[in-house]
Amino acid sequence: MTYKLLFSFLAVFLTTFICTKPKAYKEVYTDLPTVDSTAYTQCVVRYKNSLYDNNLLLEFKVNVVYIKPLGIDAIFSDNYQKDSLIEVTLNKGFEEQGILFSVDKSEVSYSGYSINEFSDHFGEYIEKEYITILVYDDAAGSRFNGVAAGIPHTICGVVEARIGNSTLVHEVGHLLGLKHIFEKDDTDGKNAVTGDGICDTGSFNLMDNRTSECGYVGPAKYSEKDLEIIIPNYLNYNYETIDCRDKFTPVQTLSMRWHIENFPTLSSALYY
Ligand SMILES: [Zn+2]
Repeated sequence: MTYKLLFSFLAVFLTTFICTKPKAYKEVYTDLPTVDSTAYTQCVVRYKNSLYDNNLLLEFKVNVVYIKPLGIDAIFSDNYQKDSLIEVTLNKGFEEQGILFSVDKSEVSYSGYSINEFSDHFGEYIEKEYITILVYDDAAGSRFNGVAAGIPHTICGVVEARIGNSTLVHEVGHLLGLKHIFEKDDTDGKNAVTGDGICDTGSFNLMDNRTSECGYVGPAKYSEKDLEIIIPNYLNYNYETIDCRDKFTPVQTLSMRWHIENFPTLSSALYY
């Protein structure tokens, strides 16, 4: 090999090495739900992103903080099983979306706040480059079971009784940019502008959200096809004691990946 050739080889190698940014996600691929690009053109254009196009498997670093009331003895508590339950719940919920969660940090914090005051104190717990989940004791008087700091955001709260069901998936769905499926909508709901901004979910009045054993029993205003999508959706409300929510739609998947790609606070919480 001549020096000249060696030099150009090195130049190419160094240029490639120096100019390649660190990858924000693993080069592992997954099958994602297919979006009907003909029916939902508006959303396909709105949410076009390379995380979806490249089918990349994404994995988030999760920070869990167990909020315990002040005044109780700081006894040694092993939250390993609860951490595992959080991982299992999220990984099951987001499996089809090619999104994984791994609890990387877990701690206990003693606080005078309950989930009702989430908005007053979540700022103390935000951890850069993590999705943070505050888990509250199931105290009587909790006004809600779960709450997200924003859409999108990196921190949410949930009562301990809900770390194993769809409430946790619902809140993390908010963190990844999803609005409620019944968000007020002036059109038919199937567009990227108003309502939840998701083209493959119909419009829905929350007041009509009545189910029995997860079957719809509200007013006959909606098509069967729309109800099949709306009732089991993670971003619907579930008023029953049984868990009726276990699905995202393909456009919700596309939208979550668009949010991850476009919000550095989210993409920086992925494993490198
Ligand atoms: Zn919600």
